[in-house]
Amino acid sequence: MPRAREVSKAVTQVARSEAAFELLEGLPVPVFVKSRDGRYLSVNRAWEELFGIPRERFLGKRVRDLYPQTPAIAERHHIMDEALWANPGSQTYEIPITLADGQVRETVYYKATFPPGDAPEGLVGAILDVTARHQAEAAVRESEERYRRTFEIAGSGVAHIGLRRMTEILGYSEEELLRLTGRDISHPGDYDMINRLRPDLHAGKVESLRVEKRYLKKSGEPVWVQVTIVLERDAAGRPLYEIAVFDDISARKRFEYALKESEERFRQTFELAASGIAHVTLDGHFLRVNKSLCDIFGYSKEELIGRSVKELSHPLDRDLTDGERARVRSGEIASAEFEKRYVRKNGVMVWVDLAIALVRDSGGEPEYEIAIFDDITSRKNLDAALREKTDLLQLGQAAARMIILDYDIQNDRLSWSDSPEWLRGPVPPSGEYPMFKDQVHPEDRERFIAERAHSISTLQPGSQEYRVVRTDGQVLWVLARRQVLPDAEGRAGRLLVAMIDITERKFAEAALEKSEARFRSLTELSSDWYWEQDESFGLTFMSGEMGGRTGLDPASYLGRKRWEQPALNLSEQDWDQHRAQLERHEPFKDFELQRPTGEGGSRWISLAGQPLFDDEGIFVGYRGVGSDITARKEAEVALREAHEELKRSNSELEQFAYVASHDLQEPLRMVSSYTQLLVRRYGERLEGDAKEFMNYIVDGAARMKQLIEDLLAYSRVGTRTREFHDVEVEAAVRRAVVNLHAAIEESGAAVTWDALPAVHADELQLAQLFQNLIGNALKFRSASVPRINIASKEVDGECEFAVKDNGIGIEAQYFERIFMVFQRLHNKAEYPGTGIGLAICKKVVERHGGRIWVESQPGVGSTFFFTLPRARGNQ
Ligand code: ADP
Repeated sequence: MPRAREVSKAVTQVARSEAAFELLEGLPVPVFVKSRDGRYLSVNRAWEELFGIPRERFLGKRVRDLYPQTPAIAERHHIMDEALWANPGSQTYEIPITLADGQVRETVYYKATFPPGDAPEGLVGAILDVTARHQAEAAVRESEERYRRTFEIAGSGVAHIGLRRMTEILGYSEEELLRLTGRDISHPGDYDMINRLRPDLHAGKVESLRVEKRYLKKSGEPVWVQVTIVLERDAAGRPLYEIAVFDDISARKRFEYALKESEERFRQTFELAASGIAHVTLDGHFLRVNKSLCDIFGYSKEELIGRSVKELSHPLDRDLTDGERARVRSGEIASAEFEKRYVRKNGVMVWVDLAIALVRDSGGEPEYEIAIFDDITSRKNLDAALREKTDLLQLGQAAARMIILDYDIQNDRLSWSDSPEWLRGPVPPSGEYPMFKDQVHPEDRERFIAERAHSISTLQPGSQEYRVVRTDGQVLWVLARRQVLPDAEGRAGRLLVAMIDITERKFAEAALEKSEARFRSLTELSSDWYWEQDESFGLTFMSGEMGGRTGLDPASYLGRKRWEQPALNLSEQDWDQHRAQLERHEPFKDFELQRPTGEGGSRWISLAGQPLFDDEGIFVGYRGVGSDITARKEAEVALREAHEELKRSNSELEQFAYVASHDLQEPLRMVSSYTQLLVRRYGERLEGDAKEFMNYIVDGAARMKQLIEDLLAYSRVGTRTREFHDVEVEAAVRRAVVNLHAAIEESGAAVTWDALPAVHADELQLAQLFQNLIGNALKFRSASVPRINIASKEVDGECEFAVKDNGIGIEAQYFERIFMVFQRLHNKAEYPGTGIGLAICKKVVERHGGRIWVESQPGVGSTFFFTLPRARGNQ
């Protein structure tokens, strides 16, 4: 107590200042100095002599140590001290004291607090021994008539030496007081208290009377006074007079009342408390118990008091409290709490929550123990039920691959809600798992440690996903949710972690990620981009490639509808159509738009999209791809232009060939007819070479005529066209055979054909095709009789025909060349012809979308193949 030390220091300084010290030491009056908490700080030699105690033995002790045999005296001083502290200043009172040797001395105490003011730090006291004076006064009074009048009872020869003191207490003058009777100044409640006891005193049954009673002050205010009366007798033992001593004990009475009230309050609290409360002696026996405690243990108060507490303990818990109790005793901890079992009187076990604390006396020495017992048996039973439920929960946890870890941070203790085998793997041969953090995957460990530390330092909950490497090497993904519970001081006390196995989910995520990556790289590699629209067709997403591919700004399209941006190729009507299609939620593709660029150019874009529906089938928008088709569009335009140009020049050429061959026919006819006329009229007159030359001219003209006719026929294949129809090929073959009737007859050839299909073709051109091929087979026959067969089969959805002969055959090097105009392998003397027949065949077949080619072996024969489209009716 620093305050007390300060006082003691100050007083010691005062006492040791030489003059004061010598004065006190030399003073014949016993003087003492006490601290605010009642310890003796200093005494002088007179004090030592009075009490017969050397100061070294007494300094630091209290007034009760001064009167070990007569605690009432110490109590009285103590009460007066309390009154003085309550009302600082000075105080005087008379008190008989008993010294160590049993002698009783009448004394007057003078006390004063210091320093002056309302906050005293200590008191100085002086003791006046008035025993001798009292005796002298008594002797004087004995002889004085005026004191013959009794104070309490008239006529019995009472002297009251305390009269002066009474005037002080009651506020009357001595004269006034002497005129009043005891009854006049007594409180009506306490009339005759002394009269009732007096016979005992006079009969010698008691040495003295001590009465505490209320008087009334002159002001009418009641005051508590202690009256002590002794009887003086003469030598023969007859009562001479009474000596009465009066003390104002109002302060003590008030204090006592307050004490009584507080004791009552305590008693009630103690008695009525719902918890069982006991005061237990330091050697472990019940000192005081309340009713609730009796109820808990089933014993009566009488049975409990004096009984050993340990005796009631359940045998298994008997010594449970010893360790903590010792710490409470030593002052290391203020209190301790336990859950332990006791046995009731009827032998039934009872679970108790026990809290103990120690009561110390004012000197700090242990006095007794307070123990509070709460019956928690029903809670414990509930706990057991809960534990059963917890077991169920654990089963559930195991099934769900979930585990709860409880980490006691301060004590570094880890406990698991279940066997952590699924998480940590089989227990290693050593019988112990490695540290959990060392089982966290090395790549996740740093993150794991950091986040865990963060949770602990901030007391914030958190969750984290990380990998755990089991003891068997298997890797698991877990989701850990952390919760930190603070301890009483607000520091992180416990870390609760719930862990769930999310390996499967992680694999699924990885697969998804992979497929997304695939999708991403596909869109990145292709010329396409990806877009999404909401249900009102506003663009909500466009992948970045769009900008890269087209040079357009994707941002200017986001949030807008497709038709809110111009397209050079589309009319209002086109847009309406597209919008209607979207509103019908139809998929679309090849929707082409020509978007203008900033620089006055444009980009062609082709879009395809699919409607999207949610789980309930409600339309939520479109998603699709786009591609930049500008290059294709440009190529198409160029191609179309080239095609148009080619067509134009081709038809010009055909026109020219037709016109030329047609117009050439007329002059040619003139040449040949006049040459023939010349031969007929003047042939006889021509001689020698002239006749031969004339034959050349006729021959040339005829040949020219044939050439022109063939050329005309060739050019007509492209220009004089008819609609295609489904045509029976056999009909065309028969027509060709009829046309070739003479040649077939003449050569004795055999022309045969298998069952032939129908095709989609120009019937006349088809007949011409067969006529040319069969004609060639007859013309280029070998020595043997010609055999010609026509067969067909279906290949790749087309009809393939084969016209086979046993003629002279063709060398492979000419397989291509024979299909070109005017290309022949023989001179006209060997085999007549113009070299246009196969060229016409090729043109006819190609006009029908087919191909023509030859396979042949010289000397064996040739087969001409060609394909034609199947009849539509058969498709
Ligand atoms: P031409 O019959 O007027 O000579 P083609 O264009 O019909 O003209 O034939 C071109 C050439 O192909 C013929 O000159 C001939 O050499 C060769 N040829 C065509 N058909 C046959 C065939 N069936 N057998 C052998 N050679 C043939």
